[in-house]
Amino acid sequence: MKISIVFLVIISITSLLIYFNSPDSTTMAKVSNLINSDTTKHKGESMNEKLVKTDEEWKKELSQEQYRILREKGTERAFTGKYWDHHEIGIYICAACGTELFESDTKFDSGCGWPSYFEPIEKKRIVYKEDKNFGMKRTEVMCAKCDGHLGHVFDDGPPPTGLRFCINSGSLKFVPKEK
Ligand SMILES: [Zn+2]
Repeated sequence: MKISIVFLVIISITSLLIYFNSPDSTTMAKVSNLINSDTTKHKGESMNEKLVKTDEEWKKELSQEQYRILREKGTERAFTGKYWDHHEIGIYICAACGTELFESDTKFDSGCGWPSYFEPIEKKRIVYKEDKNFGMKRTEVMCAKCDGHLGHVFDDGPPPTGLRFCINSGSLKFVPKEK
């Protein structure tokens, strides 16, 4: 009995690893499409300068969970964050520096347990980095202003971009649209 449970767990972990290990090159191709195209809104706006703070300063400003995710590249457990099942109209900003990152009309139900968006408000507000941790090849996404870790981007999203920005709720703050 116990052995079959252990076996099942191993099988599930293995299939998850295989799932997340899909070739990164497609994601990067779609990401560069997004970066090179003008599909994102608010084009022409430029990023302000970087916001640089010490670990001590971030620790004071952020909650423990926010610090763990944004500054230590942690991940919240699926289906536990504030926003995976959140459907109000408004804007999701970086929890660390307040940069407006995603709009509610680009959010979709991906079923993965984290808030998912098919594109950022402006391409330049996100930086992309190859992430080879945990034996997987993924593309990490960070806030371009404060370098805070947001989550990862995958190439299995819906049109028009085909991308899925899989973001930790802990990296975000929701600002409802004023009526
Ligand atoms: Zn930020």
